[in-house]
Amino acid sequence: MKKILSVILCLTITVVAFSGCDLNNNAAIENKASRSLTALDTIVDLTVYGDNGEEILDYLEKRLNNYENKFSVTIDSSEVSAINSSNGEFVNVSAETYRLVSEAAQISALTDGAFDITVYPIVKEWGFTTGEYNVPESKRIRSLLASVGSEKIQFNSESKGVKLLKGMSIDLGGIAKGYIAMKLTEIMKTEGLSSGLVSLGGNIHALGTKPNGNPWQIAIQHPTQASGYLGVLALTDRAAITSGGYQRYFEQDGEIYQHIIDPKTGAPARSDILSVTVITDNGIMGDAVSTALYVMGSEKALAFLEQHKDLEAVIFTDDERLLISSSLNKDFTPDASFAGYQIVYF
Ligand code: AMP
Ligand code: MG
Repeated sequence: MKKILSVILCLTITVVAFSGCDLNNNAAIENKASRSLTALDTIVDLTVYGDNGEEILDYLEKRLNNYENKFSVTIDSSEVSAINSSNGEFVNVSAETYRLVSEAAQISALTDGAFDITVYPIVKEWGFTTGEYNVPESKRIRSLLASVGSEKIQFNSESKGVKLLKGMSIDLGGIAKGYIAMKLTEIMKTEGLSSGLVSLGGNIHALGTKPNGNPWQIAIQHPTQASGYLGVLALTDRAAITSGGYQRYFEQDGEIYQHIIDPKTGAPARSDILSVTVITDNGIMGDAVSTALYVMGSEKALAFLEQHKDLEAVIFTDDERLLISSSLNKDFTPDASFAGYQIVYF
């Protein structure tokens, strides 16, 4: 009998607790409001500093649920489901859904297809959407690969129309959380706040600094040591977004199959990257590119980052190299346990 073991680790980035005692900061700390909930198939943590914190959290939660209802591939009434069930016809969607799908298609071209939202039929076939895991036959994968390719999506910018070819379907699971986390910090700002943090599983977006003026301290989880960290990142007004096979996978007959699919092969990406964190103020790019870099592997990922200096990254490989953008020299502190590892600044 086949033994299937599935593991989902949601908390891939952790906000390091306030440590020490800052007397000047007490008033601000009293003005803290935070909330944890489950949404978007992950654990969500929202933290705000300022007046009316609870009311703002209520509003953020409402907006989060609206986004989930729009973008989720598993909610039948979502706009993504409407696109997927359109049977080769144009579907007019909201400006936000249009933006996300069209930017996803652009990032697909930018990453030479490593990121591709049209890989969904294959993600589904492997069972990553439902948790009913299955290793498909290669013949089945080959036939599904025929409908993969974001260049086949058609757009009408005036009517905000999106059209897929028959047999195609899309999944914003690799890009929506980065967008939503960014939007929630924008809402915090509109509500008059200057300090807050959104954590959607491996997607963190910071508004401003901590109330005491210091950057947020974000610990990046070690992909193979459950309670270990790769290091701590100082983050102000930016996102830190992590992708890794360890976040969701299943094991069958001694083989591990993780959830990020290489759109060229239709199989889980066989990458030398175990974890990649992208740091940027653009949550859409950060989320999509972290997924793409994982698919590319370290060599192509470094070449890509060389061409996109606005994106910074921390990459951990299966031969235990820690690759860090040189511009993060001051902002990322590798964990002390890395003394024996190879740390490379690029
Ligand atoms: P992330 O956690 O942001 O790296 O995104 C991974 C999720 O995106 C998976 O669980 C799938 O839903 C979807 N996905 C898998 N492979 C790809 C890919 N190559 N391009 C775009 N989305 C993908
Ligand atoms: Mg992603």
